[in-house]
Amino acid sequence: MITSEGGGAILRTIGSLGSLTGSRVIVRCDLNVPLTDGVITDDGRVRASLPTLQLLLDQGARVIIISHLGRPGGAPDPAYSLAPVASRLSELLDHPVGFAVDTVGPDATAKVAALDNGEVLVLENLRFNPGETSKSEAERQVFAGQLAAYAEAVVSDGFGVVHRKQASVYELEKLRPSAAGLLIAEELAVLDRLTENPERPYTVVLGGSKVSDKLGVIAHLLPRVDTLLIGGGMLFTFLAAQGHRVASSLLEAEQLDTVRGYLREAADRGVEIVLPTDIVVAASFAADAAHVVVAANAIENTEFGASGIGLDIGPDSAAEFARRIRASQTVFWNGPMGVFELPAFAMGTRTIAQALTDTPGFSVVGGGDSAAAVRQLGFGDHQFGHISTGGGASLEFLEGSSLPGLEAVGWAAPQ
Ligand code: ADP
Ligand code: MG
Repeated sequence: MITSEGGGAILRTIGSLGSLTGSRVIVRCDLNVPLTDGVITDDGRVRASLPTLQLLLDQGARVIIISHLGRPGGAPDPAYSLAPVASRLSELLDHPVGFAVDTVGPDATAKVAALDNGEVLVLENLRFNPGETSKSEAERQVFAGQLAAYAEAVVSDGFGVVHRKQASVYELEKLRPSAAGLLIAEELAVLDRLTENPERPYTVVLGGSKVSDKLGVIAHLLPRVDTLLIGGGMLFTFLAAQGHRVASSLLEAEQLDTVRGYLREAADRGVEIVLPTDIVVAASFAADAAHVVVAANAIENTEFGASGIGLDIGPDSAAEFARRIRASQTVFWNGPMGVFELPAFAMGTRTIAQALTDTPGFSVVGGGDSAAAVRQLGFGDHQFGHISTGGGASLEFLEGSSLPGLEAVGWAAPQ
């Protein structure tokens, strides 16, 4: 149970729904797994949904699982069927799992009616129905109403979608007694630990492609952190804000003033913003591009001149970032340090990931590409304090935004 400072509950938990034995319960999961030719390549999200499902089964509930998969665009598309996900779920739960070939049609209706205590049914992809993601509230209401007709209670556990105002995430939860599942509660407990009284020193590592994607996060975290380490594509806008030339590296000129503002605010608050001192500069954006390591204030002084592109932080910077991460009690990392997808430019990201696994403090990885990066580089989820299942959702939370899917299950952001 997550509580506010005054001790009052600010998120409805499954326990608040009372006895669920024999009740039909819809569980909104995020089973949006990567698929290649119908084969699941990473079942992390299916695994993350198990504790809540197991809890409901142990209570003898009749469990109806709903989820989206990919972006099929509001109409059935076999490439985005949840059928393979239902089979994997059955293996992982070690329990039979039924599957309805529609979401709110005749097959779903018949199979929902036939559900017995302790049985599980997965309905077909929510996004085969235009009402799920419709911009029209009325259309979302209609679809939510059709779903609600199947159950007496709703458990919301798809953390990856709580920042979306969609029928199954928002309207549905308001039509039935509803609560947050264990995954959402766990993700929120972690995010809470990053924003309310984090253990110090608290270091945030930001990278990824664009500053503009992360402005809200920087603004919200500046008053809360001790140190901000900046890498990835966004570092060049910071270097430029300090007056350095960055050749053809990623630069968002329209953010220079905002970034200068952050540098000033950090100085006023005594927050250290640490920029790389060396950079890996490449001849072009390519896996086999020639590349050299140069000082961060001399990016244009390489043999590639003004066409050089910074694609990773240099080894000295990576070592310095790692040293600071290891000396922290709380570390939040979002955004790869370089173009990790190309092995020649993955060193910075690998070094930072390694440091997070080494730190004795609490380490959290948030962000879709960051989570993919650590797995692709061979790290295991258990080596980190936490890897968020929701990149967008966790970033919006850290921006201090109100998330519709959390609001629908009773969440009120602490003031
Ligand atoms: P996340 O999904 O973890 O929030 P982002 O989406 O912000 O991360 O950024 C991930 C992308 O940033 C990766 O595809 C990576 O290749 C890219 N990136 C990192 N460093 C650079 C760089 N120096 N230049 C261009 N792109 C970069
Ligand atoms: Mg991303």
